[in-house]
Amino acid sequence: MSYTSDEIRAALENNELCVYYQPMYVTMTGMLKSAEALVRWIKPNGTLVPPNDFIPKAEETDLIIDIDWFVTETVCRTLEKQNFMPQFPISVNFSRQHIRENNFIEKLTAIVDKYELPHPLIEIEITESAMVGNEEQLYDWIVSIRNAGFTVAIDDFGSGLSSLQFVKDIPADVLKIDKSLLSHNCEDEKERIVLESIFTFAHRLKMKTVAEGVETKEQLAFLRSCDCYKIQGYLFARPMPEADYLRLCQSHFSTETIEDILQIQSQTSAVNLLLEAILYRYPLIIFTNLTRNTYYAMTYKNFTSTNCPSTGIFDELIDHGAASMHPDDSEIFAATFSRSNLLELHRKGERMIRLTTRQLGDDGIYRRVETVDCFVNSRYSNDVIAITLCENLPD
Ligand code: C2E
Ligand code: MG
Ligand code: MG
Repeated sequence: MSYTSDEIRAALENNELCVYYQPMYVTMTGMLKSAEALVRWIKPNGTLVPPNDFIPKAEETDLIIDIDWFVTETVCRTLEKQNFMPQFPISVNFSRQHIRENNFIEKLTAIVDKYELPHPLIEIEITESAMVGNEEQLYDWIVSIRNAGFTVAIDDFGSGLSSLQFVKDIPADVLKIDKSLLSHNCEDEKERIVLESIFTFAHRLKMKTVAEGVETKEQLAFLRSCDCYKIQGYLFARPMPEADYLRLCQSHFSTETIEDILQIQSQTSAVNLLLEAILYRYPLIIFTNLTRNTYYAMTYKNFTSTNCPSTGIFDELIDHGAASMHPDDSEIFAATFSRSNLLELHRKGERMIRLTTRQLGDDGIYRRVETVDCFVNSRYSNDVIAITLCENLPD
């Protein structure tokens, strides 16, 4: 069923549009966390028109702008009603048409401030398809929303054409993964590989993740193993009228509200925490494939010198390292960690090589650094792999 923009405008003016709320839950615990506001058109005869039947038409004109502001205002009223339980933010969908709107941030801030609501209670969802074209304008728009204290989510990720390259540059807080990526119930090997890579990508960019359209226990189990932060879907709850949502919040409010990260973490996030501790102790860790002359480096902010490229050719890394050593140490450093020497030591059965040198810091001062190389076996190949742990020694 499709409607004309005049019919949709009349519906808005006659108060036939209303807002439903679909809850989102913490994947690991099933705790209620937030909700998404979804517009509905309820005709005087009681027929409910879903947004897909009128939003695309509204998006062809400025009508969508008025609808989104109507939803925002309604959400603020709902949040005001639940002021006594301020921990449940609400997401609002915004069309990219707003980029062209003058004073967008002033308008958003004015509405939210009128209800005296903290800005982080409102999350702005922008669909992935809105990301194509005019990327610079979009970037500036998102930065301005975040600078005003609101959270930004990329909606429907995986449904459109936006490149990973582009999403990596968009300063969004949340990545909402489209339901189409779960369409094989997370039981298909390729589907699982794609999802795992998206979650790894999002976590490494420090974005929170939400999976949309979760309908089955199988999907839930898989999403838990991927460390997905929140889920939204019929398995837990469908979009519901405001009164039902407020009742739900109230019933969840009386239960435990403090999240213990250790209670909800999966093995992946336990490993990430462990990595954080190891990186603090060894602020430069290098993974080297000695057979292929390649490396990958992880650095933590407290390492003496931060100008080590994060990946590249190992021989060049050693030249680079030797050049930033104290002149008295560079020869022994280059000889010890040359690829030929390391491969020879590995052949003789050594497991670990250790050397202390003086390394030039970012501040121009030499500091003592201990470098330890450990040979490790890869599960996937016979290449000779070494892990280098660099530690800042006390002055
Ligand atoms: P969306 O923002 O991706 O919203 C999620 C949609 O997935 C909602 O459809 C929701 O009801 C549906 N959904 C949630 N869980 C499940 C599930 O487990 N299975 C299935 N099959 N579907 C699920 P809805 O409410 O029909 O909204 C459709 C789209 O319309 C939204 O997609 C959003 O792009 C747009 N929309 C809705 N309200 C607004 C609005 O106020 N402003 C703008 N600009 N767009 C809106
Ligand atoms: Mg949405
Ligand atoms: Mg979506």
